[in-house]
Amino acid sequence: MPTSLVTGGAGFLGSHLCEELLRRGHRVICVDNLETGSLANIEHIRDSMFVHRNLDIIEPYFIDEPIDFVYHLASPASPIDYLRLPLATLKVGSYGTHHTLGLAKFHRARFLIASTSEVYGDPQVHPQPESYWGHVNPIGPRGVYDEAKRYAEALTMAYHRQQGVDTAIVRIFNTYGPRMRPHDGRAIPTFLRQALQDRPITVFGDGSQTRSFCYVEDEIRGLIALAESGYHSPVNIGNPDEFTLLELARTVIDVTGSKSEILFEALPTDDPQVRQPDITLAREILGWEPVVSLREGLQRTIEQAGVEALVGAR
Ligand code: NAD
Repeated sequence: MPTSLVTGGAGFLGSHLCEELLRRGHRVICVDNLETGSLANIEHIRDSMFVHRNLDIIEPYFIDEPIDFVYHLASPASPIDYLRLPLATLKVGSYGTHHTLGLAKFHRARFLIASTSEVYGDPQVHPQPESYWGHVNPIGPRGVYDEAKRYAEALTMAYHRQQGVDTAIVRIFNTYGPRMRPHDGRAIPTFLRQALQDRPITVFGDGSQTRSFCYVEDEIRGLIALAESGYHSPVNIGNPDEFTLLELARTVIDVTGSKSEILFEALPTDDPQVRQPDITLAREILGWEPVVSLREGLQRTIEQAGVEALVGAR
């Protein structure tokens, strides 16, 4: 039975990943200090093959049992979190990734780091293939996240090239589904929360900026496929269906049957104008592509999370 370590396993993506790995017969060690995650995401997992360790990976840590796969997801991920935790975000990307790569090296485990489409910054190439080096503002407020992830990618390749660690890099594009926090500031949970309460939907700028949204189940399937491949270079995993934010707002209103109106607000600093993954590589090397449409994913999110959780008290 393989053992997987999941850092950030009590977060949105991490908790879905832990569940899927358990379903596939893995033993799962979840390491999470609950900074942006929650025990509520994992407390329903009643499985003797699952254990949670409350550790801050910015500090050196060690897991004293054999590990076959390391899924390194721990990091603040939503703008609200990384703007509140700029130094912790840089430290988890640097020290946290060092410590976790060292652990993977010790156990001779396959290591996968959760990178992000934000390494492309405000892209000048569209859609974004892995070969594009990006257009990131290193000193803007978002730089703490984007550069931490770019550094973590560089570190991962250095451990691979110099130390022989078996590494993989996944560039995750916007992913949504049950267990996103209603107040985490990302577009889909915000729009759902507002629509389900018939409150105005707040769209940044004129809403013409685009995003591509991947349902969590598709994303997790892609992460596991990449971890189980022998591939080392970065791979985009996301849904290439591209929508403007205005289209997203209208779709959410439609799916929820809401009476909400749309309200336009100031655009945040360095907000990317476009975002769409080129997933040719994932299709070729993993045979992976997403299958859940935006409309279906929104419906599933509402059904599985329930209105109460999506509206959520602050
Ligand atoms: P999340 O905030 O729900 O999960 C992150 C988890 O990491 C949390 O449970 C948090 O408590 C934990 N964590 C943070 N700092 C830690 C530390 N120092 N030690 C131990 N645990 C720590 O976010 P998410 O959306 O599930 O994102 C997971 C990963 O995927 C992140 O690395 C993120 O950058 C990446 N990602 C996510 C998306 C997305 O759309 N959700 C897009 C691109 C990349």
